[in-house]
Amino acid sequence: MNTLTTLNNIIIACRKCPRLVKWREEVARTKRKAYIDHEYWGKPVPGFGDPQARVLVVGLAPGAHGSNRTGRQFTGDASGGFLYPALHRAGFANQAQAESRSDGLILKDMYITASARCAPPDNKPSTEELNRCQPYLEKEIQILEPKVIVCLGRIAFERILKIYSIRNSAWKFSHGAVYQLITDHWLLCSYHPSRQNTQTGKLTVKMFDDIWVKAKELIRDE
Ligand code: SF4
Repeated sequence: MNTLTTLNNIIIACRKCPRLVKWREEVARTKRKAYIDHEYWGKPVPGFGDPQARVLVVGLAPGAHGSNRTGRQFTGDASGGFLYPALHRAGFANQAQAESRSDGLILKDMYITASARCAPPDNKPSTEELNRCQPYLEKEIQILEPKVIVCLGRIAFERILKIYSIRNSAWKFSHGAVYQLITDHWLLCSYHPSRQNTQTGKLTVKMFDDIWVKAKELIRDE
């Protein structure tokens, strides 16, 4: 498991979580009406982006009809429809659209991954499932050695604390919070760009843009 390509091949073949394997494959078989002609991915969704990235973005898990359908992180659903335009404005993505694995999207200085790689029922992976998937995230961090990890949501934040063995109760998840993981390596917190957060105004375009500006500042400060 010493390159991202090798790692991603291992991830795609993973069947360690019986509940998630059953769910992701069932969703891929039954499909949503709007995507009835689509061939769903229906497998674990690997990380995606620039192998030289200094910024690692960690989400929660694939959406049943988003990346479980398209096979690429945050692609083809409302969360991605909020995320990629922001990354494009910030200069991390060459385009704002993210519809399929062949849409020409390229990330620069950024790699996007997730806390769990298989779509969970109700978007809720169990703690056991997150624990089982964690070694893949650890390996990505080991390979990339990112200067900045942006956690999208509390679950991703807690995973990173676990990986770095941080038990400091002063480290709390809040939008825009920044913590130093090790010298010159940072953890930056953001609300997840879920439809629930963006449609209720909990996460606005401005708040999200500020996260990517901050990520760039942290890279520059290294
Ligand atoms: S969630 Fe992770 S560990 Fe579980 S089956 Fe999917 S890829 Fe494997």
